[in-house]
Amino acid sequence: MEENKIHCNARVVVVGVPGVGKTTVITKAAERLNQAGSNTKVMVFGTLMLGEAKKMGVKDRDEMRKLSVDTQRRLQEMAAKDISVVRSANVVIDTHLFINTRQGRYPGMPQNLLDILSPTHLVMISADPEEIFARRMQDDTRNRDLISIDSIKNDLEVATIMIATSSVLTGAPFMIILNRKDRLHDAVSELVEVMSVKGERD
Ligand code: ATP
Ligand code: MG
Repeated sequence: MEENKIHCNARVVVVGVPGVGKTTVITKAAERLNQAGSNTKVMVFGTLMLGEAKKMGVKDRDEMRKLSVDTQRRLQEMAAKDISVVRSANVVIDTHLFINTRQGRYPGMPQNLLDILSPTHLVMISADPEEIFARRMQDDTRNRDLISIDSIKNDLEVATIMIATSSVLTGAPFMIILNRKDRLHDAVSELVEVMSVKGERD
């Protein structure tokens, strides 16, 4: 039996509302895991979807969110299938629980995708709504929708319900990690710890 702690064949789905810090936390956690000798691969769900969307003339991720639900559904399935064939490493999937579309909230992980992805762990990154708002305002690398603190609060409530539901559907445990202002290191450590516990797949 493999005794090394950091080799767990984890397939971790990391979610959270836009601007909460998912990509920042995941990138640093993967760096740490790779430095410790674990082969950890990050798959950014939106980037995989965008690869397909670009073939349809879509320019960027923020424009992709405005496509019809039907089109997004097709793009999602393609991305999930790309991820499902990645083996022999820890896989961290950077994605969203839902996307606000003109037709309402569309799930980032409907049941058919959860079935394809088959996660071992579900992690939601969270933070104070005021901090999320400030991060969105400060981040000029993205063309984000500007919404109120109240609507961020509401999105966080829906996100919590959705991650719990995803856990029930998959049987994978879920954890909510707080990414506090200037405490990025703590959030990264928590994610590294989740991935360092040996999983059932060993
Ligand atoms: P999206 O869903 O839109 O991809 P995201 O959840 O991946 O967003 P990031 O792009 O990682 O969010 O982070 C958003 C902004 O918040 C960035 O400018 C990042 O530097 C900043 N940020 C992330 N974590 C913290 C933190 N703990 N303290 C302060 N700023 C942070
Ligand atoms: Mg991101």
